[in-house]
Amino acid sequence: MVMAAPALEGAAVTALRAVLHRVRQAAEKSGRRADDVRVVAVSKTKPIPLIHQVYDAGHRCFGENYVQEIIDKAPQLPEDIEWHFVGHLQSNKVKSLLAAVPSLAMVEGVDNEKLANHLDRTVSTLGRKPLSVLVQVNTSGEESKSGVDPSRCVELVKHVKLGCPNLQFSGLMTIGMPDYSSTPENFRTLSNCRTEVCKALRMAENQCELSMGMSSDFEQAIEMGSTNVRIGSTIFGPRDYSRKK
Ligand SMILES: *Cc1c(COP(=O)(O)O)cnc(C)c1O
Repeated sequence: MVMAAPALEGAAVTALRAVLHRVRQAAEKSGRRADDVRVVAVSKTKPIPLIHQVYDAGHRCFGENYVQEIIDKAPQLPEDIEWHFVGHLQSNKVKSLLAAVPSLAMVEGVDNEKLANHLDRTVSTLGRKPLSVLVQVNTSGEESKSGVDPSRCVELVKHVKLGCPNLQFSGLMTIGMPDYSSTPENFRTLSNCRTEVCKALRMAENQCELSMGMSSDFEQAIEMGSTNVRIGSTIFGPRDYSRKK
């Protein structure tokens, strides 16, 4: 017997279930299994009780985008949450981030050598287990977006893989254009970067994740090979920046 969802299930939990269903369908459409795609529930600006509801529904992987916010929130939530820091991270905040969030599983957005070096050294100083990182690529060419230029991607990945023993290079990440019609091109660019990286470093493609796709385009991203989608507003509702201090 399939249990009906409790009548009082919160909106975020209902939305999470709908997202997981859509992820499954998109994965199957491209001949993959839903288990091959990680859903990072991006909870920035969202209050603890709402995040806890999604946790209680069984979800474990959450993403945050502001250092001070994750430092405040992580200690108030269960320790078995797999936290991802998504987007731009400043080198001078690495130490406080890693010290305050021992369960940080992945930094999605290493886009320069200095940041990689800071992360590497801090992991070593704290004596924590190696930190998984994704190299962020600017696939849209917009100045405002962080990320390494696709032409410098292999070089940065080499640095992380060969020069940062306390980091685990896990793949590539991009944000892409918010304009839906142009994202396939951005996703293709990231996928091409993976091909180059794997060739240059003699890695199997399945050892190199692709983090692409957000609320507006995650199904398309999955169909184009994404293994990690970062979904915020579709699960938690529109972002409320007024809550931020
Ligand atoms: C906020 C954020 C997301 C989630 O965006 P939605 O459009 O709300 O799904 C994904 N990735 C990064 C880097 C973000 O900052």
